[in-house]
Amino acid sequence: MAQSDHSFRTRAIHVGNEVDPSTGAVVPPIHLASTFRQPGAGEWGEFDYSRSGNPTRTNLQTTLASLEGGCGALAFSSGMAAIHCVTMLLRAGDHVIAGCDLYGGAYRLLHQICDRSGITVTLVDMTDVAAIEAAITKQTKLIWAETIGNPRLSIPDLSAISAIGKSRGILTGVDNTFGTPALIRPLEQGIDIVMHSATKYLGGHSDCLGGTLAVADETILKDLYFVQNATGAVLDPLSCFLVSRGLKTLELRIREQSKTAMALSLWLQGHPKVRSVLYPGLPSHPQHDLAKQSFCDNFGAMVTFELDATERETAKVCESTKLFHLAVSLGAVESLIEQPATMSHASYAPEDRARFGITDGLIRLSVGLESVEDLQADLAQAIG
Ligand SMILES: *Cc1c(COP(=O)(O)O)cnc(C)c1O
Repeated sequence: MAQSDHSFRTRAIHVGNEVDPSTGAVVPPIHLASTFRQPGAGEWGEFDYSRSGNPTRTNLQTTLASLEGGCGALAFSSGMAAIHCVTMLLRAGDHVIAGCDLYGGAYRLLHQICDRSGITVTLVDMTDVAAIEAAITKQTKLIWAETIGNPRLSIPDLSAISAIGKSRGILTGVDNTFGTPALIRPLEQGIDIVMHSATKYLGGHSDCLGGTLAVADETILKDLYFVQNATGAVLDPLSCFLVSRGLKTLELRIREQSKTAMALSLWLQGHPKVRSVLYPGLPSHPQHDLAKQSFCDNFGAMVTFELDATERETAKVCESTKLFHLAVSLGAVESLIEQPATMSHASYAPEDRARFGITDGLIRLSVGLESVEDLQADLAQAIG
């Protein structure tokens, strides 16, 4: 039986994965039932209907709440569904402050969906605490940041952001998809809501979509659950199982992939065609000291670098790798390469791309589990 004082790795394997009492199976069965027989009319068991609750989803949520250090977690059909659920806590007239190097889908949700309900957004540099404070209005109800920004890998000070939220009565939420709970645990730094696209590192194998929210406060959990149950974007049992399985090796994958990302960053830094490398593990990264002090020993497996090249030349490099697949998404065992300006951040307005440093020469790598030698050779032949 796993305990809360067990280490992260142990809890990732045991919490929420109790032995099935009816068979002794060490892996809990996948519950596909959409409905559950009730004890009597108007009487409710633990489960009644799978949108409202499903044993396989509960198992995943139990593991995740433990890994995040929260009181509870919710699993959604995608990362966007999870972010959407958070925005559904807002009302017409509310204002959101969000990071300026936001995930493209979150940018689109805030600017082209939430605006329909009369919600306004201001984008600020989340590494600039004074800028966050300056953007606050009487209507500000949510501060939304990414623990590692996208694509420039900027790192906000989560303790400072949660302190602002608490002193001004503003909800704080972070997208920790690039960080994962193996590296960063925002709830421990006072953040109200932590979100993940489970499609990325939590699942870890590019084979399922999912999203999660975790919180440390029962009231917020109740409010989010109400929205989730009322709107219905829950994660299906098979995907819940895949994410649960992914979580068991999360720490191991992050540790190994971070090691490779560090080695590739150092090599890229010395390459004559590379203008700059953005990796939290490099002393040249603007928030390297903060990362060193707040991350759990590793620096993640996302690497962004800038070539001295035009949009077309940069695209050509991205199209020339053989092991790195040219694809959006990230966080899996296979390495991926992409050009933010034309791919992950194409939904940004061109002037916002320019303003936030998403230049044509930028390339983003998601470093997988292949050998560092093979990955480096692949980049070397592509960059030329
Ligand atoms: C992929 C991603 C999302 C969206 O998640 P989906 O599962 O694709 O809906 C949100 N934030 C970040 C940082 C992501 O990488």
